[in-house]
Amino acid sequence: MTTNTQNVLGTFSKGSNDNSAVSLNFCRAGGSNCDKRCPYNGNGCYAENLSKVYVSFDDSLALRETMTPAQICRDALAQLKARKKRVSFFRFSVAGSLPFPSKLTREDRRALASLVDYLLSRKIPIHCPVESIEKQKTYSRLFPSICVRRSAPTMSSAIKSNHPVSVVIGQDITGAGAPAKRVEKARTVLIDYCKKTGKRAGLCPGVKGVLKTSAKCAQCGLCSNPDIDLIGYVWHS
Ligand code: SF4
Repeated sequence: MTTNTQNVLGTFSKGSNDNSAVSLNFCRAGGSNCDKRCPYNGNGCYAENLSKVYVSFDDSLALRETMTPAQICRDALAQLKARKKRVSFFRFSVAGSLPFPSKLTREDRRALASLVDYLLSRKIPIHCPVESIEKQKTYSRLFPSICVRRSAPTMSSAIKSNHPVSVVIGQDITGAGAPAKRVEKARTVLIDYCKKTGKRAGLCPGVKGVLKTSAKCAQCGLCSNPDIDLIGYVWHS
């Protein structure tokens, strides 16, 4: 690794119990790559809320906005290759989002594809969330062997989709007993979706109440599975 390599890989608590799940962010939460049409942008985005609490996390993401996507990917790849510890799960964009397609240079595209090829060669599951149809189309062409999952703003948008999606369920439920009621609603909504569409859905077990104890991405991997058309996330604030 050269001395100019930035430490760009992070971990995330939802990923694993032993810091073996890693993440890669390209901008701040609600930052330069985030589509303003995302309904959570400036309006309850988990990552934005987290960045307000963990200021040093936000500062490191602000630095990321001064790097090109190609630099970020090259540094991530160098770090992955130098790493001794096994990587159990790879998550793009714990905060922020992947770059807008119109801003990607040929070099960026090459570096992104090389990074994903390396992860695939090591059989590391990849969660690649995006917030727009445009990004879903572009990144699924760029990464044809992985699941690029769009965060749908509503259930009706999720139902109409012909690509892997996720949706947040239960943000309208507040007050006493809200967490359990949200889980119950999410189960009902997903069962209904499967009946209506004949497609497959899964409920993210990363929130307590879905299972007795919340699961970790490294054991779950639902998001990275292209055969699961819809992932439901129970709203938790
Ligand atoms: S569905 Fe599984 S892999 Fe996806 S965020 Fe939840 S725990 Fe992680």
